[in-house]
Amino acid sequence: MAGEVQGVCGKIGLADLGRTLMHEHLLIGYPGWEADTVRLGQSRAEMVKVCVDKVEELKAGGIDSMLDPCPADLGRDVELIAEVAQKTGFQIICATGLYKEEEGGTAYWKFRSNFGPQVEAMAELFVHELTEGIGETGICAGIIKVGTGHGAITDYEKVVLEAAARASLETGAPITTHTDQGKLGDEQQEILTSHGVAPHRIIIGHSCGTDDHDYHMKIAGRGSYLGFDRFGLDIVFPDDSRIASLAKVVQAGAAAQVVVSHDTVWCWRGQPLPDPAGMAAVAANWHPLHFVRNVAPRLREAGVSAEQIEMMTVENPRRFFAGDALP
Ligand SMILES: [Zn+2]
Repeated sequence: MAGEVQGVCGKIGLADLGRTLMHEHLLIGYPGWEADTVRLGQSRAEMVKVCVDKVEELKAGGIDSMLDPCPADLGRDVELIAEVAQKTGFQIICATGLYKEEEGGTAYWKFRSNFGPQVEAMAELFVHELTEGIGETGICAGIIKVGTGHGAITDYEKVVLEAAARASLETGAPITTHTDQGKLGDEQQEILTSHGVAPHRIIIGHSCGTDDHDYHMKIAGRGSYLGFDRFGLDIVFPDDSRIASLAKVVQAGAAAQVVVSHDTVWCWRGQPLPDPAGMAAVAANWHPLHFVRNVAPRLREAGVSAEQIEMMTVENPRRFFAGDALP
């Protein structure tokens, strides 16, 4: 049970990691939010309060730790994350990395690529954020985030994946990914492992965006983790299908390779969203305690044991960060 993972307030002993949500966001800002200078939205103090209240709910709901895999270019604010972690005594891990081409902060890297390849500069950035700290904050990331959009993995995304692989090999940090529509995770896995990353150091995120059992078992069969990490996001893909396909994955023997979460976003940088009430109605279950409260009982009904649920929420995150081999 040895080992540690880098949290925003220092190292977290893996024996103390406990029940862990592997993909939730305190705040997100799509690149460009900072240019909307007349409508900057919530103040920092307001955002801290929203996040502290949410974390207190999580603690009361039996959650011990969480990963906020916000990449560097999606409005990430690690000082805010650290402030919330400190105020609540809650264990939070943050990320380095870059988002998918379509919605990430790509203009900077694309401009620079006119003058030469950027893979080394990206890898250097990731390594620095994992080992020295993010900017001047001294806060280190504990994981690398990468992403791909729909259709095909772009050349830009391939460069980010290669840089992530290099940084992972140099630092020992694991990798978590974003996929669109439950596709291309197998290709992400192929690219990362072809650059030397061990498959059990990779979570293929948003794998619950499809009910394609063969896709799930292909990724699991090659030794990576599946993120069933968008519970409650019925507007993207129905929870009924998520639950059914997770039960199928468990029955196929891959319970040790699943981590769970909701991909909730607690604060959006920039002007407030137009219709929070409407949003709340379509995403009524999009809450970071939805899995524990509502999904776990339904998994039990679908034949998943309490031990297997415990494994997905406690043991798998611990083993993933430890870098231990799969059982
Ligand atoms: Zn996310």
